Amino acid sequence: MTRYVFITGGVVSSLGKGLASAALAALLQARGYKVRLRKLDPYLNVDPGTMSPTQHGEVFVTDDGAETDLDLGHYERFTGVPATKADNITTGRIYLDIITKERRGDYLGATIQVIPHVTNAIKDFVLDGNDAYDFVLVEIGGTVGDIEGLPFFEAIRQLGQELPRGQCVYIHLTLLPYIPSAGELKTKPTQHSVAELRSIGIQPDILLCRCDRPIPREERGKLARFCNVRESAVIEARDVASIYDVPLSYREEGLDREVLAHFGLDAGAEPKLDRWRDISARVRNPEGEVSIAIVGKYTGLKDAYKSLIEALTHGGIANRVKVNLEWIEAEIFEREDPAPFLEGLNGILVPGGFGQRGAEGKIRAARYAREKKIPYFGICFGMQMAVVEAARSLAGIPDANSTEFGPTAEPVVGLLTEWMKGNELERRIAEGDLGGTMRLGSYAAKLTAGSRIAEIYGGTMIAERHRHRYEVNMAYRERLEEKGMRFSGLSPDGLLPETVEVEGHPWFIGVQFHPELKSRPFEPHPLFRSFVAAAIEQSRLV
Ligand code: GLN
Repeated sequence: MTRYVFITGGVVSSLGKGLASAALAALLQARGYKVRLRKLDPYLNVDPGTMSPTQHGEVFVTDDGAETDLDLGHYERFTGVPATKADNITTGRIYLDIITKERRGDYLGATIQVIPHVTNAIKDFVLDGNDAYDFVLVEIGGTVGDIEGLPFFEAIRQLGQELPRGQCVYIHLTLLPYIPSAGELKTKPTQHSVAELRSIGIQPDILLCRCDRPIPREERGKLARFCNVRESAVIEARDVASIYDVPLSYREEGLDREVLAHFGLDAGAEPKLDRWRDISARVRNPEGEVSIAIVGKYTGLKDAYKSLIEALTHGGIANRVKVNLEWIEAEIFEREDPAPFLEGLNGILVPGGFGQRGAEGKIRAARYAREKKIPYFGICFGMQMAVVEAARSLAGIPDANSTEFGPTAEPVVGLLTEWMKGNELERRIAEGDLGGTMRLGSYAAKLTAGSRIAEIYGGTMIAERHRHRYEVNMAYRERLEEKGMRFSGLSPDGLLPETVEVEGHPWFIGVQFHPELKSRPFEPHPLFRSFVAAAIEQSRLV
């Protein structure tokens, strides 16, 4: 029997519903249950692929090539279950499907309405393909009270009546703000939020209350009474030092016990949380530290680099060190010498990115790392810029550039219009749509035996997730290899460069894919493990 857990948010946004959902899923998994997580996003974009990372944070890419909400990254990192296209849906996607069907005449003359057509589409999505799971956790994006969220709340309300009794639970995540002048945690915003939820027919079963200090008994009682939940169902979700402490903290507060009790399941046995304890201990007690520069262009919103930050943390966990991140806006290096910014740092990472702004600054960062022999990790755009840099400074091609920034005589990085996905040919035209048209999702790559990167992976066949339009141009391979930049990984058909590395450098690797998307705290990605290890080596030299 599949049980449903609906997670809604109230009071303010950014309370960490995604993390809360992921952490609860991890707890249930630690009790031996099979879990799946799905996210309903009320915005009108068909997917977040075309949204600015500085507004909406990172676009998380799944193996099957979907551009999804970053919360799916939390889901994967906490449960180890790879997310798929079918785990995230938006209002835009639902309307696009419904309107396409309507134009085709599929509705046979019916009037198409939010209820039942939109709500039915949402319910179908929620219920689809869950047979193999004990628990399906469904997170509703946004905050209760948002106009655009209403059809989603209505759909999960209906499911409460349509699913067999006792097969779903509603969890509401709220905030108890501390008001210093009163010296109290305030329950009123939560009361209002629950009132709002009840006005649309949903009575939450469990309140998960974000707070910065313990909830006094009296306030718990008040929340239970005014929000109509059991006192044991008022769960404290206190701020913790690391996100990887959240499952342990929920366990202490009894969230899993309350969920199981709701379904009449036995919560007697202890969940197996040793791996979480190990991670938490490693994060709390590092044996050293390293500092890594991230030279990017969305440094104003750290969510834009969510998976990257986590993957670097995992690299630190693997090496038992704390990884300090120095955020540097790439554009600065277009005006100023990078040396004073980068001196003393133990590694330089240029992450994925789009567009010309800051590109020359990233090229300068790559050059600094190459010449000063500081570990360099170029991811996607960061690899492309490192190759342009090597073409200019090593291979004597001063006009080397990427066609992403306009026509160039030396297209060392160029637009890709045809490529193979498995056995199928994918095509794109230069002036086509921007949404959903990149080389997306998991692709295999073959690494050269004996190369640095093959040694790091411990093998020569890998599969990693992609999200890009441009590719390093194979026509420049020979000239670059002669000068020591090896094309150490290629697509299986040998047509597309997947990885590059600089010979005679302690650690200089560029990858066309996004390894950060597959890193997990229990299984730190080999490239991040190795990059952080190289940074530790470097720190011994300074
Ligand atoms: N803008 C580059 C491209 O489209 C790199 C993309 C990325 O870094 N994800 O190829």
